[in-house]
Amino acid sequence: MNLRIGHGYDIHRTISGRPLVLGGVRFEADFGLDGHSDADCLTHALCDALLGAAALPDIGHFFPNTDPAYRNIDSQLLLQRVVAELAARGWRIVNLDASLIAERPKIYPRLADMKVALARSTGLEVSQIGLKATTNEGVDEIGRGLAIAAHAVALIEHV
Ligand code: MG
Repeated sequence: MNLRIGHGYDIHRTISGRPLVLGGVRFEADFGLDGHSDADCLTHALCDALLGAAALPDIGHFFPNTDPAYRNIDSQLLLQRVVAELAARGWRIVNLDASLIAERPKIYPRLADMKVALARSTGLEVSQIGLKATTNEGVDEIGRGLAIAAHAVALIEHV
């Protein structure tokens, strides 16, 4: 088997006046994330893990934050594009795993919804997507609620 692993990381600052979208799911919160797109850091980390596994340039290369076409864009559309870029090169996703680091809101109750949204965007089964959430135990800017971050890994197979 021709397998490749990739890693992705992303962080966005919290900001008032924007919707909070994580893993393609809208959360009830009095803040959102700052960014050119919908700033869904979890989905961005997954995109970079997939692109990295295929040794392709990162998400900023494919979707520059200077391009008005991507302003406020739903990051699920970016993830779908990344999956298509890989498929065009003969890569199929074996599994994804990610960790979201957020002090608030409570993520755990929405993990299943996020897996469904990510499965829809990637064409995977929910059983191929690992997803965990943790707080940062009050440590540093993430712990003070000033940012939300995500780590992700992807395994892909050439078919
Ligand atoms: Mg990002």
